[in-house]
Amino acid sequence: MTLTETLEAAIRSIPDYPKPGIVFRDITTLLGNASAFRRAIDELVHPYAGTKIDKIAGVEARGFILGGAMSHQLSAGFVPIRKKGKLPHETVRIAYSLEYGVDEMEMHKDAVKAGEKVILVDDLIATGGTAEGAVKLLQQMGAEVVASCFVIDLPDLGGRRKIEALGVPVRTLIEFE
Ligand code: 5GP
Repeated sequence: MTLTETLEAAIRSIPDYPKPGIVFRDITTLLGNASAFRRAIDELVHPYAGTKIDKIAGVEARGFILGGAMSHQLSAGFVPIRKKGKLPHETVRIAYSLEYGVDEMEMHKDAVKAGEKVILVDDLIATGGTAEGAVKLLQQMGAEVVASCFVIDLPDLGGRRKIEALGVPVRTLIEFE
């Protein structure tokens, strides 16, 4: 099967979740499928094989799962970017825009050092508001965000352009309308 066929078969679509009219792309079925999960991770990391990547930063919560596996493959550290109030040590915080409203995300102040090469990962990019907040937080701390990766792109929502405008390339594996 091609990568697209594998991912299409492994990702479950849930109509009217979390509210009527929204089709939620559920990656838990991908995570539970050993060969599809491995293939997705291999695809996410292969452009960076042989490149020194210091850290993978994952966005809570599904970005943690993908980012943990990517960190292992690339022998990189892992940095959790979390909803506010969850991290125990000193943090830096940023407000980011959601489809309706705003929220805040945080990471530990000492999680990245200036000049470190970091890849950001999340399961899906829609409007790009979440990833934009995460990239800005990393850049504020002096990290060089060399790429951002997502399993799923919803291109109609324009997130890719928002991240590319920050000087960060965007890599996605499959698109849904
Ligand atoms: P954005 O900020 O780009 O508009 O939304 C992306 C964020 O919302 C990501 O953290 C992603 O996990 C979550 N998200 C939004 N819609 C979906 C969806 O249909 N499926 C999944 N798995 N996550 C979604």
